[in-house]
Amino acid sequence: MDADLLRRYLEFYQDLGIKTLYRRAGGTACPTADQPKAVMGEPLPQILADIGDCRRCRLHEGRTKLVFGVGNPTAPLVFVGEGPGADEDAQGIPFVGRAGQLLTQMIENTAKREGIALTRDDVYICNVVKCRPPGNRTPEPDEMEICGQFLTRQLLAIRPKAICALGGTAARALTGHKEGVTKMRGKWFQWRDVPVMVSYHPSYLLRPYNQDAKREAWEDLKKVLHFVYD
Ligand code: URA
Repeated sequence: MDADLLRRYLEFYQDLGIKTLYRRAGGTACPTADQPKAVMGEPLPQILADIGDCRRCRLHEGRTKLVFGVGNPTAPLVFVGEGPGADEDAQGIPFVGRAGQLLTQMIENTAKREGIALTRDDVYICNVVKCRPPGNRTPEPDEMEICGQFLTRQLLAIRPKAICALGGTAARALTGHKEGVTKMRGKWFQWRDVPVMVSYHPSYLLRPYNQDAKREAWEDLKKVLHFVYD
């Protein structure tokens, strides 16, 4: 195993919360016995099964349904939002409320206008946290850290060509950058070796006084769609 591959393995285990690695007599590094063993490219249903009836953080207390993710399991493009809202919590599907309908329209209409054959079902959509934060508050850092291991595993399973981070929370969680979304939007960042385009959260675009942001979000989407599908 070369140094680059070893570094990637170590980052992967670190993201899963595995801090200690032991060398076997045979010389193979492996996670400790009481830690989950995740395989790169494991099937999404296995990740969902591992989440199970999750009670790893306080968000489970108020949830109706856990919202894992939806779409093409080999999608070249993944959209990542912040966390489920009321409609998503009720249905167990991400981005189905008003903001979700706007996102679907934006994806499908922009693709059509740009000559790209694409529907919502062709991409994958998920969130940083899988359970609805009370009153739609921003997820707390510990909640994002606990749930983040599952987002990591989802992204490793899907292996997209690019990720679109919707809003500041997703952008900061994926890229580690601390700026606000207005500074980050329209620019490429990275999650591991995967390019991340940052854009506004669709719920921000629903506010009538944010019409400039809507135009900018369309520009961001065009950029990411052409990068992935041209
Ligand atoms: N907002 C999000 O960030 N995610 C959803 O799934 C719905 C609304």
